[in-house]
Amino acid sequence: MKVPVYLFYSILKSNIKDFFGGRKNNPNILMLEPLYKCNLSCPGCGKIKENKELLNEYLPLEDCIQAVVDSNAPIVSICGGEPLIYPQIAELVQEILSMKRYVILCTNGVYIPNIIDKFSPNKYFTWNVHLDGFESEHDKWVAQKGVFNDAIKAISLAKSLGYNVFTNTTIYHNTNIDNLIQLMDLLNNIKIDGMTLTPSFPYKSGGSLFLTKEKSINFFQKLEKVLSKYPIIHSPIYKSFLTGNINLECNAQNHVTRNLKGWQGPCYWLADHNYESYNDLNLKTDWNSIGPGKDPRCQECMTHLCFEKSSIVQNGFMYLKGLF
Ligand code: SF4
Ligand code: SF4
Repeated sequence: MKVPVYLFYSILKSNIKDFFGGRKNNPNILMLEPLYKCNLSCPGCGKIKENKELLNEYLPLEDCIQAVVDSNAPIVSICGGEPLIYPQIAELVQEILSMKRYVILCTNGVYIPNIIDKFSPNKYFTWNVHLDGFESEHDKWVAQKGVFNDAIKAISLAKSLGYNVFTNTTIYHNTNIDNLIQLMDLLNNIKIDGMTLTPSFPYKSGGSLFLTKEKSINFFQKLEKVLSKYPIIHSPIYKSFLTGNINLECNAQNHVTRNLKGWQGPCYWLADHNYESYNDLNLKTDWNSIGPGKDPRCQECMTHLCFEKSSIVQNGFMYLKGLF
């Protein structure tokens, strides 16, 4: 099985409930950003640069919990900023787990050893460590020597204590395939539970760091023959999309974002509006005007957050079949 069973079960249960409950387009993922502050200062990070005035602010715990209730998403991805700096991070995770949601805690990994004794392993809880390359390649992206080794030590510690650990890697225009394979081999050796690979795309300007759709497809076609060696947690249909074999439509309603500014619309990348409530986000967003072919900023987007849901909706039966 490619997708961890409890993650798959959380998505399936919620989608069946929505289907029979008559609720269309309920999100599968809440992207919860309780802070923008970070212990690193990566040169390409928009979060810390664009939110300087909010770097010392935290979204109150009760607002975080209310966001989980309002979105009703089965998966909550806590991101930021660096969420391990959030003063009540352990309480937040515990509260969300008690609401029977799958929690993915995204981090650069550096602070895991300092804080891990506040958590306990749980099949519905996963650490998700961001790694953009092997050794010096990753340290170059985060502009700090030693971060890669700290992150690998933190992953090994978490694994030795019985936690689920995923990694997520962004692919840029100059990502070197051999270096990426070195990283995936190392992660395989330390028995990582899942990996995601996300193509970057130029949604703000035609920055030279990012991939066009054509370059993303080209990259994944080259990588395709080795992918089956690794626990990549994308669905088979999304992988076909990445290698250019099928087309999928954007389903931005699959993921909703709550941060210090409100409910961000229309998606995690396009921060056109901040709404006061989840209902406002849903009702006031013109969902039909976004996506490739509709909004020029979406033209090169192939991110799993929205296209994975399309793989369920457009190809439901094949998706289920392909998971096993
Ligand atoms: S670790 Fe993440 S949040 Fe922190 S500066 Fe880097 S990209 Fe931004
Ligand atoms: S294609 Fe969808 S997820 Fe991607 S930027 Fe556009 S609206 Fe956002």
